[in-house]
Amino acid sequence: MEKERVVIIGSGPAGLTAALYTARAQLNPLVIVGNQLGGQISITAEVENYPGFPDPDLTGPELVDKMYRQAERFGSRYEYDEVVEVDFSKGSPFYIKTNGKEYEAESVIVTAGASPRRLGIPGEDELIGRGVSFCATCDGFFFRGKDVVVVGGGDSALEEGLFLTKFAEKVRVIHRRDELRAGPALTKRAFANEKIEFIWDTVVDEIKGNGMVTEIDVTNVKTQESKRLKTDGVFIYIGHYPNSKFLEGQLAMDEHGYVIADERMRTSVDGVFAAGEIQDSMYRQIATSVGQGCAAAMQCEKWLSERE
Ligand code: NAP
Repeated sequence: MEKERVVIIGSGPAGLTAALYTARAQLNPLVIVGNQLGGQISITAEVENYPGFPDPDLTGPELVDKMYRQAERFGSRYEYDEVVEVDFSKGSPFYIKTNGKEYEAESVIVTAGASPRRLGIPGEDELIGRGVSFCATCDGFFFRGKDVVVVGGGDSALEEGLFLTKFAEKVRVIHRRDELRAGPALTKRAFANEKIEFIWDTVVDEIKGNGMVTEIDVTNVKTQESKRLKTDGVFIYIGHYPNSKFLEGQLAMDEHGYVIADERMRTSVDGVFAAGEIQDSMYRQIATSVGQGCAAAMQCEKWLSERE
């Protein structure tokens, strides 16, 4: 059993910020990275709204690299593994199990983030990596000169749809209503982009293909009219769910599985803190996750020093 003072579960902006602050507080934190260093921003094409980076073309992976190196410089350590089980029931030290190791942590900061929601329709799972994607940054390049659809009407759908216009010939955004959820800045840019076309009031019923995506079946929810559209790719941006399954029964959560944390990022278990999208279904910005990660780290440091 490895003994640690602070274990940070997850390596998105909240986790890397918590790592930076606890490292600078000489707590020698261990970050258990999860399945992707950087979490969701590592699959974000362009980051336009993180303060301090005024020039265009800051990519998600670049920002992850900067945050990672900054926290490492002060002594953060990284374990490339996933947490599969925790036991917080007996209080500190807390038990944490990854695929490869077991830990006893005096304190824990949970920053496991959220994952893209799926449509749950036939063809979706089977054709992931064969035309179905949740990551324009990763896969956009493969759609040069092709025809793709983006499902969703929020900021992510438009941001990634705009990114896809760099490669694709045509990008059709399929939204289930006739009004976008996305904010005005991205809406304006999407409306002005000649490669983007909107299909309103429409849901996707099935994704078809033989080896690769070739067609989708869609239905207009107002007229009930169904039709088949030819396409080469389906990019799905319909929101997220918290990665909290491994915390069930350990921490108090709301009905959607978001961990409940107070304004000091304290969870229902003394000595366990939470920050970022695992506990925030409202703001979900890099800037807010960074702020929450900082607050969680400062509270964690205070909690540890009061115990001594
Ligand atoms: P979101 O804002 O929750 O939008 C999800 C979209 O998917 C909505 O338009 C929703 O439709 C649609 N949807 C949900 N379930 C669906 C289903 N089963 N079938 C079809 N459509 C479905 O999620 P997001 O776009 O990922 O954004 C998450 C947060 O990150 C937001 O706060 C957003 O502002 C932020 N964000 C900001 C930026 C930026 O500022 N540059 C970029 C990306 C994300 P309805 O509208 O009908 O509910």
